[in-house]
Amino acid sequence: MKLETPRDIIDALKNSKSSKEKSEIVQQVSKEFISSDIRNGNSDINFNETTQDVKIIQILLLGLGYLSPSQMSGQLDQTTMHAIKKFASKSNISVDVNKPITKEVINLFTTYQSSELELSTNIKKDSYTDPKYKGDKYNWPPKPTDIHSLNLVEKENLFGKIVWVKASGDYITVQNNFVKENIITIDLPQLSKIQNPPKLTKIRCHRLAAKPILALWQEWENLGLLSKIENWAGCFVPRVIRGTQSTLSPHAFGIAFDINTRSNGLGKMPPAIDEKGSVRELVPAALKLGFFWGGHFNRRKDGMHFELSRVDSQNMIA
Ligand SMILES: [Zn+2]
Repeated sequence: MKLETPRDIIDALKNSKSSKEKSEIVQQVSKEFISSDIRNGNSDINFNETTQDVKIIQILLLGLGYLSPSQMSGQLDQTTMHAIKKFASKSNISVDVNKPITKEVINLFTTYQSSELELSTNIKKDSYTDPKYKGDKYNWPPKPTDIHSLNLVEKENLFGKIVWVKASGDYITVQNNFVKENIITIDLPQLSKIQNPPKLTKIRCHRLAAKPILALWQEWENLGLLSKIENWAGCFVPRVIRGTQSTLSPHAFGIAFDINTRSNGLGKMPPAIDEKGSVRELVPAALKLGFFWGGHFNRRKDGMHFELSRVDSQNMIA
């Protein structure tokens, strides 16, 4: 199992299917990432200390349901001490919240044995969906009030009607002239400057989305943000929304594009700003230029996804 980032660890703990698996993850992470000086008792962790060791302990406590994302201070503070105390009490070890963290407490992590009971109680606490995680501390871009993800009628009014039948999988066959009349090929030069540039910088999109897409990528380049983009995963794709039978995807209209797909899985909490593949810094410019971000979907997060949700008058001439 790959456990390199906080995200990997928290997801692995959250998704662990058995107490055995959970125990192994906690043991592996604490042995691998907590410094040997602390594990061997050569030094303790003192109150208010901010170290990598504290961070790892907090990540484990979060994954085990003893801390919420908003409590990830990176510092051995009161909240963390109380979480450690609670965690230790399950093993009948009493922790004095006013004393440093010693090797004995760290041993609880390196020799951790989860119980099925703990698994079932903590699984309900899906702390990763904690609304507090969206707070400023994690640089969650505020949800826009001036744009929303357009519904079908709104999309049809702005971009044209698609007559279609289901093809294989999520794909559709467009039966009217929508594609011919609206979908164009443009050059998006910034694609050659992203981490994994595609072979071609040509993309297919709706004629009314061309200017906004070009403007947004230019803006990202101006802001020095192209390095944040790992990959490009397409714009116009004639398909329904994944997992649905009959809801046309904004990709079918050629008004949405996906980036950083591997780090921003559908239905997952998009990575925080210092985590691999985070798109959060890209969002403010997108919102300003009329692109709704999939991380702002209420139900199923889609952090890879940006969709045009407004057509400015100057873009109507295409
Ligand atoms: Zn998408």
